[in-house]
Amino acid sequence: MSVFEKIVAKEIPSYIVYEDNLVMAFLDIMQSTKGHTLVIPKKKYENIFEIPEELLKHLIAVTKMLAEKIKIAFNADGINLLNNNGKAAGQTVFHYHFHIIPRYENDNFKVSFENNADKLTKADYEMRLNTIKKHLWNKLL
Ligand code: AMP
Repeated sequence: MSVFEKIVAKEIPSYIVYEDNLVMAFLDIMQSTKGHTLVIPKKKYENIFEIPEELLKHLIAVTKMLAEKIKIAFNADGINLLNNNGKAAGQTVFHYHFHIIPRYENDNFKVSFENNADKLTKADYEMRLNTIKKHLWNKLL
């Protein structure tokens, strides 16, 4: 049983923010910023590749509603939504979840993107574009 399955089963304590028959939201124990909340499907799916689309739609709708409410509740200046899929992407709990991370001016939370634009040619971009498109066409055919 994953730690989040134990939370759903109320076998371990958590600070439940929202719950319906399909999804649950509770405070992330780390509280990376004030109000940091996780939204999960009650049934365990490991990642975005596993979760059924209909359930994901509901999860996203609840995430949007909670993001709005949490932003107002804490008077946050912004919100990051974060979803890690796979160990290489930073996933540590293999039960699908969205992080709602309220952001405050001058908080120390870091989201950084490497900028490789100056190292790439037009051909590099086109090669990457075509690699993606090739797989999209395969899916559509
Ligand atoms: P990720 O690294 O995206 O898989 O995020 C997993 C998150 O789960 C981390 O931010 C942890 O702080 C959080 N977490 C792990 N155990 C618990 C728990 N028992 N209650 C609340 N949050 C937890």
